[in-house]
Amino acid sequence: MCCGNNDIEKRAELPDAVDMELIKDMCFFDPHVHMTSRTTDDYQAMADNGIVALIEPSFWLGQPRTHVGTFADYYSSLLGWERFRSSQFGIKHYCTIGLNSREANNEALAEAVMALLPTFIYKEGVVGIGEIGFDDQTALEEKYYRLQLELAREAALPVQVHTPHRDKKKGTQRSMDIALEHQLDPSMVIIDHNNEETVEEVLNRGFWAAFTIYPFTKMGNERMVEIIRQYGSERIMINSAADWGISDPLAVPKTAMLMKKRGIDAATIKAVTYDNAIAAFGQSGQIDPNDFANGMAINQSEKFENNSILRGGQQPRIAKGSIIIQ
Ligand SMILES: [Zn+2]
Repeated sequence: MCCGNNDIEKRAELPDAVDMELIKDMCFFDPHVHMTSRTTDDYQAMADNGIVALIEPSFWLGQPRTHVGTFADYYSSLLGWERFRSSQFGIKHYCTIGLNSREANNEALAEAVMALLPTFIYKEGVVGIGEIGFDDQTALEEKYYRLQLELAREAALPVQVHTPHRDKKKGTQRSMDIALEHQLDPSMVIIDHNNEETVEEVLNRGFWAAFTIYPFTKMGNERMVEIIRQYGSERIMINSAADWGISDPLAVPKTAMLMKKRGIDAATIKAVTYDNAIAAFGQSGQIDPNDFANGMAINQSEKFENNSILRGGQQPRIAKGSIIIQ
């Protein structure tokens, strides 16, 4: 065999079509997914599995940027081309705008980005300041986290907080302490990337607790089911945080399917995969569920600034089930 990937065990891990039937009437809102890094196939699969709306937080791109102009173009693409691309699959696209923690460590660049932010955060479809917070928990990360919390307070926008992978518990506590110091109401702050170690304190202090279902590193969805069993659904939401790394843009529907299989009731599943994200980020005044609850009209021949997602006179793609590519 020339392909090392024909291990039948691995194939068996693919979601079973019968299982996916369990969620066929459900709608999902993924409040954290980096679509800029994903393909049209991902959009199609997300739409096919019930994702009707999403939030794309601004983040770093895997490699540090060196010019402020690249931030301006990136923010513009989240508001323009990426929103258009999403609409072509019937998925409503929102975003959060901010300076991420990693790039906050380049002070000259961070200053220039801070000057740019007010020109983007008031635009239509911006549902929060994010994702901001700590990575290595440096002094510069703290400086720009604080400045952006002030910006969020002024703009009355929710804040989407990225918590660090290393020393997570301390970083999460510090993120909440600082948000309170800046007089943010915890109901306006979504603490992301929680785990079993952090969830209780986040909920007890009145913040929203988001969970990223991310293969191998953050949370597997079996652990997620147990957290839902223990804490219920109030102020909890699930996201994929799918990006340019090994990640899964179907993490939200797959976790809903698993919850259903494990006997979690439908109202709880809906709360953590749809309603709570809308309630939290809807405080921006930018989300009207009527825009997506019954699906969006799709016309893949539409154009954005003279460009469509169809290349070189392609026809809109409809049937994905065929092995024949025309
Ligand atoms: Zn992210």
